[in-house]
Amino acid sequence: MSEAGVPAGTWLRAAERDLPLVDDVVALLGPDGGALVVAPHPDDESLGCGGLLAACAAAGRPARVVVVSDGAGSHPRSRAWPRDRLVAQRQAEARAAVAELGLDPARDIGFLGLSDTAVPMAGTAFDAAVAALRRAAGPVPGCVFAPWRHDPHRDHTASFAIAAAALPTWPPETRLFAYPVWGLAFAHPIPGFPLPPEPLLPMPPRGLRLDVARHLAAKRRAVMAHASQVSGLIEDDPGGFRLPEAALALAFRPFELFLEAEAG
Ligand SMILES: [Zn+2]
Repeated sequence: MSEAGVPAGTWLRAAERDLPLVDDVVALLGPDGGALVVAPHPDDESLGCGGLLAACAAAGRPARVVVVSDGAGSHPRSRAWPRDRLVAQRQAEARAAVAELGLDPARDIGFLGLSDTAVPMAGTAFDAAVAALRRAAGPVPGCVFAPWRHDPHRDHTASFAIAAAALPTWPPETRLFAYPVWGLAFAHPIPGFPLPPEPLLPMPPRGLRLDVARHLAAKRRAVMAHASQVSGLIEDDPGGFRLPEAALALAFRPFELFLEAEAG
């Protein structure tokens, strides 16, 4: 192994093979902690952390989701679904999704409403986003789950940076984990999904795999609650986004990967 590390796909396959597999949220959250999930878009909470959120609800642990962007970038050319209608739809889908996972959609989810594909990475807009996340998060219950910084989507990278910047303002015992969504394509290519050059990451990966087999049915319902992303609900934007089958298959594996954020 070189000092520079190994390609991200190799690194992720090692994580999927070698990280401890736990079936109880205690291993992640400690004896009484909860989870804050920072989702770049409405659907990432379910794709990356649906099993975790369902496990929290089942165990009576506090769980909260903060969605960073408004999701309006998925179908920018639909005339039937102009921006405001699409944003409202995507918020409703996210609330339905967290309800499927056992959370209270009136209490346990907040929306920062930042522009999709333009989540800030620096400057005063970034500082404002960090402050908005702190307000929307409320009291942070123990562990924060942010998108993986190497996910090949700028909103995901930016959302990681926002969560990482907020971390020092939360209680010192707060732990930050990263969950990969689109970065999984480095290890499991998704047809039609272009990838940038693979980053090099230091071995070994650190983190945990959470066994979510018993929550998969709820996770599947939560993902499918995002009807605008998984079905033909929006018919008049042929270039509009639809979650690829290969990405859904990755999301519906019986474990979720939570990486120690500073480890890679
Ligand atoms: Zn996303």
